Amino acid sequence: MASMSLSSCLSKSVRQHYMSLPQGEKCQVTYIWIDGTGEGLRNKTRTLDSEPKTIEDIPEWNFDGSSTYQAEGSNSDMYLIPVCMFRDPFTLDPNKLVLCEVLKYNRLPAETNHRISCNKVMEEVKEHSIWFGMEQEYTLLGVDGHPFNWPANGYPAPQGPYYCGVGALNAFGRDIVECHYKACLYAGIKIYGTNAEVMPSQWEFQVGPCEGIEMGDHLWVARFLLYRVCEDFGVVATLDPKPVTGNWNGAGCHTNVSTYKMREEGGLPYIEEAIDRLSKRHDKHIRVYDPREGQDNMRRLTGQHETSNINDFSAGVANRGASIRIPRQVGQEKKGYFEDRRPAANCDPYCVTKMIATTCLLDLEDEKENQ
Ligand code: ADP
Ligand code: MN
Ligand code: MN
Ligand code: MN
Repeated sequence: MASMSLSSCLSKSVRQHYMSLPQGEKCQVTYIWIDGTGEGLRNKTRTLDSEPKTIEDIPEWNFDGSSTYQAEGSNSDMYLIPVCMFRDPFTLDPNKLVLCEVLKYNRLPAETNHRISCNKVMEEVKEHSIWFGMEQEYTLLGVDGHPFNWPANGYPAPQGPYYCGVGALNAFGRDIVECHYKACLYAGIKIYGTNAEVMPSQWEFQVGPCEGIEMGDHLWVARFLLYRVCEDFGVVATLDPKPVTGNWNGAGCHTNVSTYKMREEGGLPYIEEAIDRLSKRHDKHIRVYDPREGQDNMRRLTGQHETSNINDFSAGVANRGASIRIPRQVGQEKKGYFEDRRPAANCDPYCVTKMIATTCLLDLEDEKENQ
């Protein structure tokens, strides 16, 4: 029990009494934003007089950026610009969760606000109707930082029975997974599915297909819901791409991609063209596939444990050791989508989807210069 938080042990029946009190016409709106680390999420809540019907009904707000690694104390007010609204699965209807962009005091985007530039690219490529689906892998830890349900000393049995496993010896922490799934559905997240991963206490959920900017919006809020559900249970979800060194799988955020033409009959050549373009910009992609320009992913992309080597680009049908995998069914039907297996679990989906859309669909100045 020592590895679970004290907060999670507070009386749930006392909580239930207060949570069931009527709240009248008022509406609680929780503003969510990405902090200065580019990985952490913050939130705070305010009361609106009535339920907002659209995102336009939610006012701008502000926060103290000097407490989120986003501003100096002397000029610390940052703006919160609501961009995407969801139902609140914790305090229930009519309350809302709202994802926000962060602007600095001068109304320029904060350093970790990659949504603005991502959205610009997505507008430019709109005619292609680009869809994404991201597979978010994560690892459950106790509040002591030790993998959840692992023996205090030593290791669980080697990898083998855990992927999509069932039973108390194989599946660690399924309550979290099931509650998070329901919370996503209630909120309105386009959650696609979930499964237990290869390493014990490691799980995955997928979000998609989402068109354009929606991918980043939904994945960030799905991550918020995951952290919040874990908080209720007194455990921690980490997106570290290699939480345990040695013979244990790392955690990625495979990104599946298609355009209108790829999805149509005879789409395979368009998939191949995209892969050819990706092959020429491998380094550029690696630099934005984790928050530390490849330093985090270096620990994961070793060429072992179903990964490619960080220094090499490769592609293949049904090949889980390649940078890019074409699913077998897509190879057979000669249309569909491809999977970029390189992004780390802690990537910013705005950076990843922006880079993929740019490389695959835009005429690139730097490529022209090279000719
Ligand atoms: P894997 O076999 O790699 O584990 P998953 O089943 O975990 O694949 O995830 C598949 C992902 O592909 C989902 O996120 C889904 O939304 C996405 N996806 C499915 N069809 C498309 C498509 N046409 N374009 C883009 N993404 C897609
Ligand atoms: Mn998967
Ligand atoms: Mn997986
Ligand atoms: Mn995958």
